Amino acid sequence: MTAAEKTFLSHPFDDDKLKEECGVFGAIGMADAANFVALGLHALQHRGQEAGGIVAHDPEKGFNSAHRFGYVRDNFTKASLMESLPGPLAIGHVRYSTAGSKAAVIRDIQPFFGEFSMGGCAIAHNGNLTNAESLRRELIEHGAIFQSGSDSECIIHLMARSFQKTHADRIADALRRVEGAFSVIAMTRTKLIGVRDPLGVRPLVLGRIGDNGYVLSSETCALDIIGAEFVREVAPGEMVIIQDGVIESTRPFHDAKPRFCIFEHVYFSRPDSQIGGRSVYETRHQIGVELAREAPVEADLVCPVPDSGTPAAIGYSQESGIPFALGITRNQYMGRTFIEPTEHIRNMGVRLKLNVNKSLVKGKRVILVDDSVVRGTTSRKIKEMILDAGAAEVHFRIASPPTAWPCFYGVDTPDREKLLAARMTEEEMRDWIGVTSLKFISLDGLYRAAGETDGRNNSCPQYCDACFSGEYPVAPSDQIGKGFTMKTAKAAK
Ligand code: SF4
Repeated sequence: MTAAEKTFLSHPFDDDKLKEECGVFGAIGMADAANFVALGLHALQHRGQEAGGIVAHDPEKGFNSAHRFGYVRDNFTKASLMESLPGPLAIGHVRYSTAGSKAAVIRDIQPFFGEFSMGGCAIAHNGNLTNAESLRRELIEHGAIFQSGSDSECIIHLMARSFQKTHADRIADALRRVEGAFSVIAMTRTKLIGVRDPLGVRPLVLGRIGDNGYVLSSETCALDIIGAEFVREVAPGEMVIIQDGVIESTRPFHDAKPRFCIFEHVYFSRPDSQIGGRSVYETRHQIGVELAREAPVEADLVCPVPDSGTPAAIGYSQESGIPFALGITRNQYMGRTFIEPTEHIRNMGVRLKLNVNKSLVKGKRVILVDDSVVRGTTSRKIKEMILDAGAAEVHFRIASPPTAWPCFYGVDTPDREKLLAARMTEEEMRDWIGVTSLKFISLDGLYRAAGETDGRNNSCPQYCDACFSGEYPVAPSDQIGKGFTMKTAKAAK
């Protein structure tokens, strides 16, 4: 991908969204497992569109791998490529970009592979290690030669320094040294391994397919695409080792109270996925219901900012009794159309991706429901489009609390000073965006929508919500070393 493509693909609509950085998928016990992995990664494409990779193992042909920039469908559908990835065991990864390396470098694409005395092992990581910089320095001082700029490569080097006899024990050793968020899948010649960090910040689920086949995936939507049955979530702090149709479960870490990422409910996960036994769609719908109760307003129409605002807008409409309408349409075929965009095209901004249905909104008091406000630049442009189309009033209702803190656990967030909510009060944001009213769902309302009927337990929060509250469950050591100050680090003991 050229620099111009990268700039354009992230500009300007998507640049004002938080971005999940990775999705992982692994399969064992089926012929040509790489094909199942490709399909799984295709279903997880929303978690990372920059690049993808697959490693497969065949008893006769050994380990083979392919790493490519671009969408899964543009690469891992080619017969010649898929035939080069034979075998009953494979893992894959889609990425947005890894911490510390925003440049498009093929060496940064996972899975990473290492040859050990007991055989080869590939790993793929979803999340972000908050002590990766200090670990990397230490590893380099002790002779490690890094191939990539990725924090995840530390895991391979830590495994190489472990004296444990099995890959699984070396992975556990390595992960006990890291801090932050990780859902890791790994493969040896015969085993598929999945691990979640003690707080379970990022998701990982287990599925079954056929007589002897198992899969590990970031989300359940990727099980559906291959017809796999959902078995269960890999528990926070659990390692599962799958071989010959048998699952072994171990607990390599200290016990901790789980702190799953609440933003997975709001935005990152696909609405057709299940989290903690709850449909993501249902949670988003319920967020809209809570928003309508917390922030009612007289209006004529409820319109979602597509696509992620749609379930919450439906919930808001149903609870308030105000009619729902698709007042904004998103062009689903953006992206690669303008490979070398001119300045003139870039300046069209949000209009390239979103268009207002003028006949619907003209003369109306419109409630716009969006999932989040990050920098606020897109909200301003959408407001202008709605007013240009003749709307009488624009009321923004946001399906998450103000995003005032950066995420260090695997979600790409601007620096704190670029987050609108870090610089302004709610009233100031309303005036800066230029809308008649602006309201965010409360943290308690969000927790209720996610199934916590009593809201947030402030002395022991049930989720990670650091980007809203500033209470980081794992202190971001590398950032603190650079002078970052946070409110508190409420470690879940
Ligand atoms: S800081 Fe926000 S986006 Fe990051 S893991 Fe926590 S809740 Fe999720």
